[in-house]
Amino acid sequence: MRLRDKVVLITGAGSGIGKSAALLFAREGASVVVNDLDSVKGGKTVSEIIEFGGDAFFLQADVTNPISVKTMVEEAINKYKRIDVLFNNAGISGVGKLHETNLNEWDQTIRVNINGVMLPSKFVLPYMMDQKKGSIINMSSCIAEIGLGNRASYSASKGAVLALTKSMQVDYAPYNIRVNALLPGTILTPFVETYLKESYADPEEAIEKIKTRQLSGELGKPEDVAFAALYLASDESKFMMGSPLYIDGGVVFG
Ligand code: NAD
Repeated sequence: MRLRDKVVLITGAGSGIGKSAALLFAREGASVVVNDLDSVKGGKTVSEIIEFGGDAFFLQADVTNPISVKTMVEEAINKYKRIDVLFNNAGISGVGKLHETNLNEWDQTIRVNINGVMLPSKFVLPYMMDQKKGSIINMSSCIAEIGLGNRASYSASKGAVLALTKSMQVDYAPYNIRVNALLPGTILTPFVETYLKESYADPEEAIEKIKTRQLSGELGKPEDVAFAALYLASDESKFMMGSPLYIDGGVVFG
């Protein structure tokens, strides 16, 4: 088991990539603290883990709310006494060109996607610093490095997460804490289904178009990213520090 005896906190683990990672990590022996804004979805992830004999419990919190996040981290520590891995996964989509984006929508994407990485990290880091060990996985996107239109706020937020990852790595390397970023391409989750519905008259046709831009010829699945997260969570990746890890099926533009 690749995560035996490790305690993992995953934000946004009620759906998509976070849920897939929670199930995989638990199968690999981790105790998983499942966070989500949505108690029903988060609770379901925990039930599925308990069903196969894994160890998990749910903590509802909005990752943009400092009081909720602080309480969540304290409750996780009360139960398990340590947090070995923090997977900052929760995120939302932001659609639109810059001149069409209103400030409220912009702020919401920035708040969830950036503050949602900053706050859990802020409250978990002191425990990892005491432990002199930890792995933080930040959810960026391949959009941080490639140009994709109609996603102004989302691109800005995911670019910031990548820069923040590198800055965090420099500051916390002396404490034996690794901080890496995941850069997925298009992964078929509820998040992408919503984005496609909002952005295209014919979402099925849009999916076919996206496939032609990928060397894989297919969209990714949540477990494709979960396996990459598993590697970053485990000690197998001990020489990866401040790195972007692409899981994008070979996205080709132009
Ligand atoms: P998803 O919508 O299936 O799951 C996201 C989960 O986060 C949901 O359960 C939602 O309730 C939760 N969440 C949202 N806001 C929250 C908040 N404020 N506090 C706590 N939980 C909150 O999405 P997904 O596709 O699995 O995406 C997960 C992450 O991966 C996101 O950060 C997303 O930006 C990133 N990502 C996704 C793709 C993709 O193609 N799906 C590609 C690149 C990056």
